Amino acid sequence: MSVTTGPHATDTLPEGTVDAVVIGGGAAGLNGALMLARSRRSVVVIDSGSPRNAPADGVHGLLGLDGTPPAELYERGRAEVRRYRGAIVRGEVTSAEPAAPSDAGDPRFTVTLSDGRTLTARRLLVATGLRDVLPDVRGLAGHWGSGVVHCPYCHGWEVRDEPVGVLAVGPASVHHALLFRQLTDDLVYFTRGTELDEETRARFAARHIQIVDSPVEEVVEADDGGIAGVRLADGQVVARRVLAVATLMRARTEGLEGLALPMEDLPGGMGRRFVSGAAGATEVPGVWVAGNATDLTAQVGASAAAGALAGAHMNAHMVTADTDAALVEVSGHL
Ligand SMILES: Cc1cc2nc3c(=O)[nH]c(=O)nc-3n(C[C@H](O)[C@H](O)[C@H](O)COP(=O)(O)OP(=O)(O)OC[C@H]3O[C@@H](n4cnc5c(N)ncnc54)[C@H](O)[C@@H]3O)c2cc1C
Repeated sequence: MSVTTGPHATDTLPEGTVDAVVIGGGAAGLNGALMLARSRRSVVVIDSGSPRNAPADGVHGLLGLDGTPPAELYERGRAEVRRYRGAIVRGEVTSAEPAAPSDAGDPRFTVTLSDGRTLTARRLLVATGLRDVLPDVRGLAGHWGSGVVHCPYCHGWEVRDEPVGVLAVGPASVHHALLFRQLTDDLVYFTRGTELDEETRARFAARHIQIVDSPVEEVVEADDGGIAGVRLADGQVVARRVLAVATLMRARTEGLEGLALPMEDLPGGMGRRFVSGAAGATEVPGVWVAGNATDLTAQVGASAAAGALAGAHMNAHMVTADTDAALVEVSGHL
């Protein structure tokens, strides 16, 4: 069924109505597809191929797979889905909308790809992940995922004992700094105009965290391509090798507007997500959501687990619908 080979292999789109289309083939989407495919559901994963952790060297904190390069993990996942006849199509969903339900009232959706191809599905799993929005500091974005990090559990160990700077973005950065202090003794907190009360300053002092209140001008690059430091508005450069920054996390919604899935902003300017209930069910019958698209802080393991749970619930939902339809059919013939 695969029409190309290698890491970017893509399968042909099946004809007719499939049981499930999974939008997004990262940890959440692939694990959801795996559960559906193993339940003998026809499933198609549409994936545009830009998982959130693509810039990272390895996936950390994932039991049994710690340090595996992201591309390798997802390639393994795709092979596992294909092993059970799931299809993986490289492409971007540009539209997904409810279509007329079946005669038995079972939901239907039309999914359109950027190249114009369409498919019809009984259920949808939205697993599109999120986009990290960095603060607007000159030179910062170029080091994202290497010298610029956000997550102490993803790359904290790798930057242990380095001179680390925390670029504050709001009140939550205080806790962020304490988490990175656990990993290095050499920590500088750049307030960047955010408020820091006297009690917090005393707590930082007690942990030997230096505080810089001068505005940050830019990130200075070292000769080796890494980070040399942070230039302040007065021209002074504070030497740092690593910068930790909390990003604004926004669920990826492109192409999904037609589903009208409810969304919400999380407190503290943390980000925006799709609202979901038990096992990732949404208010739109037939649509589930899993991974970072709804759980902004989920790591790879939690995203995969959420996808698996959603996939199992989607199958359970269809099992009931199939049985209801069979009963109507049998009754009609009596
Ligand atoms: C730099 C960095 C390092 C990280 N390191 C770690 C780590 O070490 N350990 C860890 O556990 N977690 C780590 N994370 C977190 C990890 O990236 C997330 O937990 C994980 O990617 C969430 O999985 P997901 O499936 O929800 O989303 P993603 O992995 O982002 O996958 C979403 C997929 O959907 C696709 N997509 C989106 N929209 C569409 C569309 N319209 N049509 C088709 N496809 C679409 C995307 O291309 C992407 O492939 C890291 C994050 C970052 C930013």
